[in-house]
Amino acid sequence: MTIPVMLPQMTEEQQATFNMYYPSTQRDEIVGVLLAVLLGSFGAHHFYLKRNGLGIVYLALFWTGIPAILGIIEAFFMPDRVRRFNAEQATQLAYSVVHGATLPPPPTPMVGCPACGMVQNAGARYCVQCGRPMM
Ligand SMILES: [Zn+2]
Repeated sequence: MTIPVMLPQMTEEQQATFNMYYPSTQRDEIVGVLLAVLLGSFGAHHFYLKRNGLGIVYLALFWTGIPAILGIIEAFFMPDRVRRFNAEQATQLAYSVVHGATLPPPPTPMVGCPACGMVQNAGARYCVQCGRPMM
């Protein structure tokens, strides 16, 4: 089942901006399920989808064991919740891009080390793996 995403018409430049930001806002269905099963007692799966209010309630009640049971039940709903979350993020981001809203600084670009190929932040002076200067 796919959630339809209503995206406004974007110019190529806006599309490029969208593509630069979107991966960092996306959430993963598998991670969502695992968080609900393994760390559901602490509300981790709610914090993951920015439902901080619910997360805090779970965290406060973790000692009762109830959030752990809820987490296991909710694991079944997580893939759908994650897809909805991603669709909402995409829609919000697309409207921000189209309407020229101020966006946070883009995620740090990554580059590969010329010597060993280790991927790291573009600003790094030396490779974290082989120690050679990054040019
Ligand atoms: Zn290297």
